[in-house]
Amino acid sequence: MRNYVIKGNICYSRTRKELCIVENGYVVCRDGKSAGVYELLPESYEAFPCYNYENKIVIPGLVDLHVHAPQYPFRGLGMDQELIDWLNTHTFVEEAKYADLDYAGRAYDIFAEDLRNSATTRACVFGTIHADATLLLMEKLENAGITAYVGKVNMDRNSPKCLCEESAERSAGDTQRWLHDSRNFKHVMPILTPRFTPSCTDELLEKLSELQKRYHLPVQSHLSENLGEIAWVKELCPGTEFYGESYDRYGLFGNSCPAVMAHCVHSGEAEMDLMKRRGVFVAHCPESNANLVSGAAPVKLYLERGIRAGLGTDIAAGSSLSIFKAMAAAVQCSKLRWRLYDQSVAPLTVEEVFYLATKGGGEFFGKAGSFEEGYEFDAVVMDDSSIRSPRELRVRERLERLIYLAEDRHIAAKFIGGREIFRER
Ligand SMILES: [Zn+2]
Repeated sequence: MRNYVIKGNICYSRTRKELCIVENGYVVCRDGKSAGVYELLPESYEAFPCYNYENKIVIPGLVDLHVHAPQYPFRGLGMDQELIDWLNTHTFVEEAKYADLDYAGRAYDIFAEDLRNSATTRACVFGTIHADATLLLMEKLENAGITAYVGKVNMDRNSPKCLCEESAERSAGDTQRWLHDSRNFKHVMPILTPRFTPSCTDELLEKLSELQKRYHLPVQSHLSENLGEIAWVKELCPGTEFYGESYDRYGLFGNSCPAVMAHCVHSGEAEMDLMKRRGVFVAHCPESNANLVSGAAPVKLYLERGIRAGLGTDIAAGSSLSIFKAMAAAVQCSKLRWRLYDQSVAPLTVEEVFYLATKGGGEFFGKAGSFEEGYEFDAVVMDDSSIRSPRELRVRERLERLIYLAEDRHIAAKFIGGREIFRER
């Protein structure tokens, strides 16, 4: 059913500064899209069935712009290591296992089920280099009802043997076959996924660029995560002024190729300028940046300059699949950044992190992440009645508290693009 009304305390962002709250109001779903938020239900919608969530909090679904599905099995492990040790001990060992479809199936069942039970409605997901396992991941996310971009990863250099594709040709060929086989999903879409510049030869990026043009695909990758990586890219790509150019020179950095780049912790002026001009999305992953000692991204500055941005969990460099936790971490990370080394960029506000988690990231999917009229109807109903307090809290305070305290068990219902994922658990 695609036409209905939800009654409750409706909270959503219009801009990064404007958080709208309509207490005991109504949000209308018509043909899978929002038909607006109302204090009193217009007569024309009175015939729609109404789900009464009076006194609960209704928010747009949360968006995870950067998550590695195959890393989910080792979340929370190796969190005291730095990047290279962590990659060698955990990441590469785990990702190699996805050559085995039986293992992939078991792992992706858990990932898809946990994502379904979370407040995340849309996600940009990395798979592995394995086309068949990535198709399996897409199938499981489709069955879970999640709207997602999913990518088969490309890597043909500077990678451990078990994860290094034998040639650019082979990598692109497997990608083309995977694209062909993934065309029938309804809510899960393919996205080109060069792991990052150090793991992709020029020849491979050239071939991915051809595929991008032929199939009009978006792209996801990593950018300017840490200083060692940035220096390495400069060495690998003579003639580039900054990291982003290593994607841009193959047309894989915005404009006609929608792009989402994880991290952007150390992007300089020229890189920021290009991201803004090309409409590149930043996937800010604060927990990951702390765990891997990458640093603190100047996200507030990105927002002030009109660079598009959302949040990512970056499982398993981030330990939690919860975008609520990513919101809290984003505030904390921006405060440390401000205190420790840059008083010119103020910490993020509650309004800003809520915006990043909903509309900011949602717009990578088009009109998603808000209840403004015409937006995809993604909604999550939060029942916070079990979070006890003797205080009488206003709705705004309850929302603020959820950023820090929400758990999956507080989710009473979830809808994506008007589709009911679950209700009244
Ligand atoms: Zn990542």
